[in-house]
Amino acid sequence: MPYSYDDQNIFAKILRGEIPNDTVLETEHSLAFRDIQPQAPVHILVIPRGAYVNYDDFATNATDAEILDYTRAISKVCEIAGVDPDGFRMISNAGENGVQEVPHLHVHILGGRPLGRMLA
Ligand code: IMP
Repeated sequence: MPYSYDDQNIFAKILRGEIPNDTVLETEHSLAFRDIQPQAPVHILVIPRGAYVNYDDFATNATDAEILDYTRAISKVCEIAGVDPDGFRMISNAGENGVQEVPHLHVHILGGRPLGRMLA
């Protein structure tokens, strides 16, 4: 599916250095920073540097190097945040029904407390 990217979204501005962020990890193709309204003791957002609206856009159109970098960056962030031993959750909201507020692909990494069961 073709996607139209809004380069005025807040994560695009963060990537351009127009808005500050609390960086956790920077790689060639990815950036991770703390969520401004954390829902758990650990709440980090991992985004690709490329202009991708959501996971489908990324998985379909990103280069192999971007995909490898991004998937590894997510694991590295979990390691840096120390969530592995306690368990954690990865979420990527997509589209209006998925309540995606920022139209640039991001994975939420949540952890640092028992998260409970969540299917919706
Ligand atoms: P979404 O609903 O999955 O799109 O989540 C967007 C997330 O971005 C929310 O958890 C917001 O708290 C977070 N957010 C919005 N603006 C900023 C910011 O400037 N820095 C860090 N996180 C942000």
